[in-house]
Amino acid sequence: MRPSLFAALSAPLVVSGLLALPAAAHEGEHRQAGAHVHGVADLALALDGQTLTVEFESPLDSILGFEHPPETKVQTEQLEAALAQLRDPGALIQIPAKAGCTVTTTPDIDLPPGFTGPPDKTAAAPDHDEAHDHDDGDHEHHHDHANIHLSHSLTCKEPAALTDVTVTAFRTFTRLRTVKVAFLSDRTQKADSLTPERPTLSWR
Ligand SMILES: [Zn+2]
Repeated sequence: MRPSLFAALSAPLVVSGLLALPAAAHEGEHRQAGAHVHGVADLALALDGQTLTVEFESPLDSILGFEHPPETKVQTEQLEAALAQLRDPGALIQIPAKAGCTVTTTPDIDLPPGFTGPPDKTAAAPDHDEAHDHDDGDHEHHHDHANIHLSHSLTCKEPAALTDVTVTAFRTFTRLRTVKVAFLSDRTQKADSLTPERPTLSWR
């Protein structure tokens, strides 16, 4: 599992240290990021040269309308539909087309134990919640809150043209009311709380 930008964002903003983070392993660190408030999600964009990392963390309630592992066919389909949407960064953000950013890898999607994730993530699931390290034979134990965390990696041909981001997640996931957005590069740091009425953050 990959450490989170959000953990770095709560520390003093040192971009070089932030971008070095993927080399340091602190499993589960992102679970400590921010308070769990339904309707409120975190979004971080970090630009390093031509590489744009986009991280998103949200209560599952805001994405699915429930926070327990799917118990019905309908809930399983809701989860699969949400994951399919989240594999496209366009479900979360719109950035200037002239920046020429394209997805370079499949996104890293982290879900709590018991959820059916993408096949390549199931092996990592037992590490997610150290407080619940018992064998998950009974989903009734998981009555607590749950987050989804994901990370996209993009390559941008013209990173200088990356001047703003508009949160499209409000349209994709209508339960979202606030997205706390941060942008970091070697030249710029900007953060704001965005809403469906004011979904754009500009840094130039
Ligand atoms: Zn919750």
